Amino acid sequence: MTRVSDAETRVLVSGATGRMGRRVIGEAAARDDVRVVAGVSRDLSVEIDGTPVEPAEEFRFVLAEYEPDVLVDFSVPEASREFVTDCAEADVACVVGTTGFSGIESTEDEFAEGGLAALREASEQVPVLRASNFSRGIQALLRAVEGAVRDLPGYDVEVTESHHRHKRDAPSGTANSILDRIESAGEFDRRVHGREGDSLREPGELGVHSRRAGGIRGEHEILLANAHEELRLTHRAGSRAVFADGALDAAVWLAGRGAGQYDFSEVVAE
Ligand code: NAD
Repeated sequence: MTRVSDAETRVLVSGATGRMGRRVIGEAAARDDVRVVAGVSRDLSVEIDGTPVEPAEEFRFVLAEYEPDVLVDFSVPEASREFVTDCAEADVACVVGTTGFSGIESTEDEFAEGGLAALREASEQVPVLRASNFSRGIQALLRAVEGAVRDLPGYDVEVTESHHRHKRDAPSGTANSILDRIESAGEFDRRVHGREGDSLREPGELGVHSRRAGGIRGEHEILLANAHEELRLTHRAGSRAVFADGALDAAVWLAGRGAGQYDFSEVVAE
């Protein structure tokens, strides 16, 4: 069992200088069940809202110095896998929000497999919770999508996601979770990413579309249609606070649990 502090869960944030990392530090300041003891990032040492942020290469030293109960990671897959491996050695639980492990897989196979394998291996020593989306609304959407696909067999299904212009991976990790859920509920034999030229829709296709523009925080729409009707299920994130708070809820929930892989749906269910 990993260590757990009495009153407040002690959190270390990796990717602390990023859009999500900063938000996690900001949201934690308004809660009394968590305390961000430090952050790490690729950048030079800084301070964010009074929280010390250390260079990522000092990660092991940071674990020993600040004694966190849980790592909350919003960085990049290649860094994330190193952090999680070090946390397993130091007996620190891991909440991983970083996405894009599978995106790298297509270009640098071994590396990405190594990334996910590192998370799996770490989960033999410590609790690890990886989620592509820490919004409770998305959890509800996943259940709704599954029901809709089961209720509407034979309907065409297309998933469209929109994000800000800085997002690296496509489709989004959340879109991949939605696609997995659709495939588990219906009869689809291939994903078709975007359409161009002569691309008549064939039975069994699951359409996927990614848009990148401006500062969109995250939008996912699932369209189900036949010749006579259409159903659209849409989720829009209004603020990154929703992901930051969900990740902190996950950290509090995970602290002190036994080794293993956990899912955000378990946090939401309680
Ligand atoms: P960002 O680019 O703003 O921040 C990335 C952070 O990682 C920065 O602090 C940067 O210094 C650090 N970093 C980059 N390379 C590094 C390295 N090699 N070693 C150590 N640190 C490194 O990105 P963001 O918008 O904050 O998103 C971060 C990740 O979180 C992305 O994968 C994104 O898709 C994901 N995300 C997940 C959720 C969710 O709910 N699970 C929500 C939003 C974003």
